[in-house]
Amino acid sequence: MAEPGVHEGGCLCGAVRYRGRLGESKTVTHCYCRMCRKVSGGTFLTWVEFPAKDFAYTKGQPRYFKSSEIAVRRFCGSCGCQFTYQYVPELESISESIWVAAGSLDRPDDIAPTDHIFTDNQLPWLHSDDGLPRWPGQLPWLHSDDRLSR
Ligand SMILES: [Zn+2]
Ligand SMILES: [Zn+2]
Repeated sequence: MAEPGVHEGGCLCGAVRYRGRLGESKTVTHCYCRMCRKVSGGTFLTWVEFPAKDFAYTKGQPRYFKSSEIAVRRFCGSCGCQFTYQYVPELESISESIWVAAGSLDRPDDIAPTDHIFTDNQLPWLHSDDGLPRWPGQLPWLHSDDRLSR
């Protein structure tokens, strides 16, 4: 039986594996932004918030791509699987979280979505009736940092 809150995951080809422990936050958000679409080739990505201090790669090393001035995305250099999204360290408190792509978890069934973000960019033919909060941009408690509105 896995330790509560501990998740392992990895990519399709198996070159990179990671382990993380969930913290206080139970935020799991579907993101419809254009960058998540382009980076995944899918129509949205689902991100699970982990404390960065409790997340580590256990096999192989991901490649990274600085997708904007404020964030870095990590992915498998062999098969292309997306692993994480993290704000740059200059953003201090919000970079203490690392956002892990739910589809890369070994047990994605054990987490539950809480929000939809960047719904202004949601494709018109994607529908959801889960009743969860929908935010036109970033999560409002992150968006209160003005450096994110650039
Ligand atoms: Zn891979
Ligand atoms: Zn996104």
